Amino acid sequence: MSELHKFLFEGLPVRGMIVRLTDGWQELLRRREEGEPFDAPLRRLLGEMSAAGVLMQANIKFNGALVLQIFGDGPVKLAVTEVQPDLAFRSTAKVVGELPASDNGHLPLEVMVNVDGKGRCAITLDPQDRQPGQQPYQGVVPLHGDQKEPLHKLSEVLEHYMLQSEQLDTRLVLAANDEVAAGLLIQRIPLEGEGNLGAKLSQEDEIGLNEHYNRIAHLASTLSQEELLTLDVDTILRRLFWEEDVRHFEPMAGPTAPRFACTCSRERVAQMLRGLGAEEIESIIAEQGQVDIGCEFCGQHYQFDPVDAAGLFTDGGVTPPGSSRLQ
Ligand SMILES: [Zn+2]
Repeated sequence: MSELHKFLFEGLPVRGMIVRLTDGWQELLRRREEGEPFDAPLRRLLGEMSAAGVLMQANIKFNGALVLQIFGDGPVKLAVTEVQPDLAFRSTAKVVGELPASDNGHLPLEVMVNVDGKGRCAITLDPQDRQPGQQPYQGVVPLHGDQKEPLHKLSEVLEHYMLQSEQLDTRLVLAANDEVAAGLLIQRIPLEGEGNLGAKLSQEDEIGLNEHYNRIAHLASTLSQEELLTLDVDTILRRLFWEEDVRHFEPMAGPTAPRFACTCSRERVAQMLRGLGAEEIESIIAEQGQVDIGCEFCGQHYQFDPVDAAGLFTDGGVTPPGSSRLQ
């Protein structure tokens, strides 16, 4: 079963999290199998995005959707993960053409989404109570480093993002196969605003705190993807941090665990169809006899027959009593 573990390093300004998505991740893949399955390297990327999205949402506890998107310039045009405040997640991707052949299911990031160096990663925070006209917050980072070198891993892109947009030193290890999507996050806790450290730190103290973070981040980066995927959380923490004083909180598991869930609904699809306009919908009906919309995230199909379709454009979208529906 999926689980999320939080821990901190006693007395040090460093915290961490480990997520393991199992049942929810497998369900996401199973639903996709029924339509157009993703190639193995893309399944890994989406698994890493799902794990990373859950870690980021759990980290900031945002009251709205956190959307992690990669706009690719390679065969993968778009990869997206969305995570709700209750850690319900969904992910999908759009591929145009073919992915190149891969060694045992692995392709570096740039081959899928950054062929010409124009790929971008965006993180959007869309508040639940967004006012009309209010824009969601969005931060965007390129898929290359400071020296324009392409980044091979999603974890490196997101470490960049956290430093640039949030000024947070972060170390991430991400991995996914068809059974598990998992991630380890280590982060320096920002000192500003922490009342207990109100007094200005001397430079020496600050260097000392950096050393603690650097040591722990280094230990974290020795975790292999294989270990992250196969070991249980207690074993990972013991192996990496056996010399540290780690406080491990009660994990989020069972009903509070991250899970796969889709927010699509017939009403949302109806709203999208209204946006296309009556003429467009009529021409689809003329051609196909009905409108059939499949959800890209969960595979659910929404069908609108000619009567349903006409109802979209009456007041409120509800077919009034006495109309053709009842005759
Ligand atoms: Zn859906």
